[in-house]
Amino acid sequence: MLEVKNLHTRHGWNHALKGVSFRVPAGSLTAIVGANGAGKSTLLGTVAGIYNPFRGEVVLEGRQVQRLQAEQMVRQGISLVPEHRQIFDSLSVEDNLMLGAYPRWGGDRREIKRDMEDIVNLFPALGERLGDPAGGLSGGMQQMLAIGRGLMSRPKVLLLDEPSLGLAPLLVKEIFNTLNNLRKNGTTVLLVEQNARAAMYVADMVYVMDQGKIMLEGRPDELKKDRRVQQAYLGRG
Ligand code: ATP
Repeated sequence: MLEVKNLHTRHGWNHALKGVSFRVPAGSLTAIVGANGAGKSTLLGTVAGIYNPFRGEVVLEGRQVQRLQAEQMVRQGISLVPEHRQIFDSLSVEDNLMLGAYPRWGGDRREIKRDMEDIVNLFPALGERLGDPAGGLSGGMQQMLAIGRGLMSRPKVLLLDEPSLGLAPLLVKEIFNTLNNLRKNGTTVLLVEQNARAAMYVADMVYVMDQGKIMLEGRPDELKKDRRVQQAYLGRG
């Protein structure tokens, strides 16, 4: 579905991505884990068209898309759920969801409504708050809303930047259970996470990133046995 080949991105003089390559097969959940500053957000931002890579390719269903701007990326099927969620506090939950559907506003309204119902089925708690201002939701529910908004554009690939950020352990569990459901539904997801343990719980394939490069890759069951991964990312010596 999505392939990233030898991607390089700079922030001014900071060479944040130094030749990153990986694949996200259709229907899979692929996770990139790594410490603060490893380049994970830069990677997602580059795939989503927010940053311009100076070398390398982003290939979606066989087509190179790395030169497209963020809005065109959404239309092509790449939807980013950003770090810190970026919910519109004063708008209702429903209007925030509708914003995610903007590439389809000119299209079939009934279809948009059906998708909204699917999202409410996925996140029943949101359904009870559709008319409420989104700013009043808890952090966990705002994360669910951000994911729901991302799904409203009917993405081919959903990019998730640190969904566990700032959430209590119980809520992290809830969010990752939802991601598991998304995966079972066949949604293709690229997740970046500092919380390696949570990421390994849901991912089909995990890439470990450090200082702008992929250092290791493998299935979660393989990586969990790797001593370097245990020491650096899973808190076991
Ligand atoms: P975090 O979990 O803190 O978001 P990360 O793994 O996502 O970390 P990035 O945010 O991609 O890492 O940062 C990679 C490097 O690029 C860091 O050195 C960071 O300081 C730098 N960087 C990130 N964004 C910018 C920016 N907009 N302008 C300048 N430098 C940036």
